[in-house]
Amino acid sequence: KRRSIVAANWKMNGNLSLINDMITGLNAVHLTENVDVVVCPSFPYLASFTAIAQREGLQKSIHLGSQNVNEHQSGAFTGEISIDMLKECSVQYVIVGHSERRDIYKESSKLVADKVACVLDAGLTPILCIGESEAERETEQTNLVLSAQLQSVIDKIGIEKFDDVVIAYEPVWAIGTGKTASPEMAQETHQFIREFLALSNAEIANKVPLLYGGSVNASNCETLFAQPDIDGGLIGGASLKVDEFKVICSAA
Ligand code: 13P
Repeated sequence: KRRSIVAANWKMNGNLSLINDMITGLNAVHLTENVDVVVCPSFPYLASFTAIAQREGLQKSIHLGSQNVNEHQSGAFTGEISIDMLKECSVQYVIVGHSERRDIYKESSKLVADKVACVLDAGLTPILCIGESEAERETEQTNLVLSAQLQSVIDKIGIEKFDDVVIAYEPVWAIGTGKTASPEMAQETHQFIREFLALSNAEIANKVPLLYGGSVNASNCETLFAQPDIDGGLIGGASLKVDEFKVICSAA
């Protein structure tokens, strides 16, 4: 059985008080042995999360993640954050290639692949986001889009390194819209992703955790997580509400 992961992507939301409440709340959840929880607040709160977690104590299956990283090690990149800086804040996971980064900040699949490589080189775990737009789904290009997004990363790092990669499938039309993919549709796409990876290496394809993201909430998480190729979720809006996020973590 693959590990399950539930990751909270707070996007540009949250504050110090939510960090405190989330740590207290999650510490009270009984997480099963096979589940990891990752909380990804904005950059200014990473060090605070770690400090509070050290003070209050944190269940060992709860981890800290960041929402982005720069692909360079250091240098004249005003406003950017390096992987070593994240490491010093005890970050273990890094979300890479979220559709908001690809769409709003024009991150190409090549840049996303460079970032995945940078995270892996530092010994951290990338959460690689892929997903199709509504227009792409309607014109039946979903599989084509997902394969291209995956292939650029495979070309950069090689399939063997996917052993340390988490993939999050987030259909863009389901993000923040309340329109979740049906469990059947999500499963079908997850199965496609796994089969695509299996063309390069079946053993690794079988091991990679595939998270679903897009309007996951306390009411739909259980059926989504019950699908054979869905190994957890990347949660946006519902991860800002401590009680709801606790329910989602318990369902994994
Ligand atoms: P929502 O859960 O708000 O739809 O966001 C999903 C997402 O983009 C997580 O990365």
